[in-house]
Amino acid sequence: MVSNINLFPSPETIRTIDHQLTDKLHHQRQNITNLSTTPDTPSDSWRDELNSFKFEKSRDLEALFDWTIASLEDGMVQMTHPGHLGLFNPAPTFPSECADRIVSSFNPQICVWSHAPKAVEIENHVIKQLALRANLPAGSGGHFTSGGAEANSTSVLCALTYKTPEYGELGVGAFSGRPIIYASVESHLAWLKFAHAAGIGRQSVRLVETDGCGCMSAAALEREILSDIEAGNVPTMIAATAGTTNAGMVDPLDDCAEVAKRHDIWFHVDAAWGGALIACTEKITILSGIEKADSVTMDAHKWFATTMGAGMFLTSRPQVLADVFKVKASYMPESDATQDFYVNSAQWSRRFVGLRLFLSLGAAGWKGYGEHVNHSINLTNELTNGLVCHGWIQANASQMGITCLVPPEGHEAVQKYVSRVQDSGRFWVSKAQFEKRPVLRACVTNGRTTTSNIKGLIDLLTN
Ligand SMILES: *Cc1c(COP(=O)(O)O)cnc(C)c1O
Repeated sequence: MVSNINLFPSPETIRTIDHQLTDKLHHQRQNITNLSTTPDTPSDSWRDELNSFKFEKSRDLEALFDWTIASLEDGMVQMTHPGHLGLFNPAPTFPSECADRIVSSFNPQICVWSHAPKAVEIENHVIKQLALRANLPAGSGGHFTSGGAEANSTSVLCALTYKTPEYGELGVGAFSGRPIIYASVESHLAWLKFAHAAGIGRQSVRLVETDGCGCMSAAALEREILSDIEAGNVPTMIAATAGTTNAGMVDPLDDCAEVAKRHDIWFHVDAAWGGALIACTEKITILSGIEKADSVTMDAHKWFATTMGAGMFLTSRPQVLADVFKVKASYMPESDATQDFYVNSAQWSRRFVGLRLFLSLGAAGWKGYGEHVNHSINLTNELTNGLVCHGWIQANASQMGITCLVPPEGHEAVQKYVSRVQDSGRFWVSKAQFEKRPVLRACVTNGRTTTSNIKGLIDLLTN
């Protein structure tokens, strides 16, 4: 007992330390605009400190907190800095931070309903509400994932199993020809990893050309499918993107759905970031066609702004999930695929991450989330308009809160501007490639970013 006092302190000691930690984090929050948005490269002396942790002796926990906080203060891109206009990684909602705390305290195991029935039902409820909001058919289901990548990887397994049910037992050998996945050249390129992992090979991914505006060309998609059929291949999944990572563009979902239906292909919509538009009643039409998807990826940890490590997989065919992830283990209390996550998802032991979105939605309502989404769209438009006045060109005609900007003719190259922004330590934007053209990419990801931050960034870029 005494020897483990640092690992398992008494409730009173925990309370004292909790308060200390709360105060330290409070100070860190108040200090955020004094920190640099851009990390320092870890110094030799910091690495020496890190290497001094041989874990041969115990240390004071409070000193460890201080060391860790100091390390993060200059050791990461500061997502909670209001000048951070970055790669979708959010300043987290406060309710989602609270959810992490509550979940850490109880530490429920939610892989099986009977271990934490109410936690499991809360997650299932959130998933069903999102499916409803996205107009997926009644009876749709799904689960929380570690992120969009896990959800997209799950969609590949579902598509393969749906197309050829024997794939589950026999692998790709069960297919009469090479199974093929279609996504656009502007899609999230992790599709190549998942094709590798699923055993169909990277050459089974067709990166379909776009229409010159960042959206998949439905005509090119149809052409590729016909040529694959002719070659004896088996078109298996169309993965349309609703909100590309680079530029917030939406593939023609209705057209893709029609092509998928005509050829009996699984239709997946990757709305990892853009899916949050379902919160805005007046903007839901941007995602029109998503309701025809066999499966949808949405991230909680992007535009829904929960803490990192929370994505979602939604499907109108939950029975396919049950087929993909079925397993029987004698030590498990039950295996009911309608409610036991270990038999309808890739994970086994799992954290109750869905509480982050439940508390956030509960506290803000869809209306509050809609305001959050509109806030980032409005501020992104302010940035675009401010720079267009100075001769910049917006390369992407996105209706979402993301802008890809090209500097005026004859001015510095994009990389120079991006370095200027990052080196200032006051803002953060990135460089990207959109339709073969280098662009400065900016996306408002922080609910505390204001018009004056945007003005400051415009000044920095135009002076
Ligand atoms: C971010 C993103 C992903 C990957 O999601 P993670 O949460 O980073 O795993 C997939 N698709 C799109 C369109 C994305 O923007």
